[in-house]
Amino acid sequence: MELEIDHIGIAVRNVEDMVQTYCKVLGIKPEDIERETVEEHRVKTALIPLGQSRIELLEPIDSEGAIAKFIDQRGEGIHHLAIGVRDIKAVIGALKEKSVPLIDAEPRIGVGGTKVAFMHPKVTKALLEIVEK
Ligand code: ZN
Repeated sequence: MELEIDHIGIAVRNVEDMVQTYCKVLGIKPEDIERETVEEHRVKTALIPLGQSRIELLEPIDSEGAIAKFIDQRGEGIHHLAIGVRDIKAVIGALKEKSVPLIDAEPRIGVGGTKVAFMHPKVTKALLEIVEK
């Protein structure tokens, strides 16, 4: 299983304010930032390139989604760590065999049309997302 950090997800109240902050802090050009609204996850996103990895800023588009609830309960900050894999179905199958608790038993669509699934944090102590490259 080839693994790498695909991105780190950070929950924020205002994605545009944070894009400006990150561009300033990291010296990144605003035109290098990709933006996308992912209705299924109830978020507006911006992807800040970091070599082969990225920072994924996530702003809730309503009060219903997981990111809105996270910010309500814990404030803004690191929400999840995403691990890139070649074959998400194979990885999900392997995790099920090991009885690793999953939030998504089947892949769903994430940012950029990628296939993603979240593991339950009770084993890993951090919310891990797996992303098919
Ligand atoms: Zn993510």
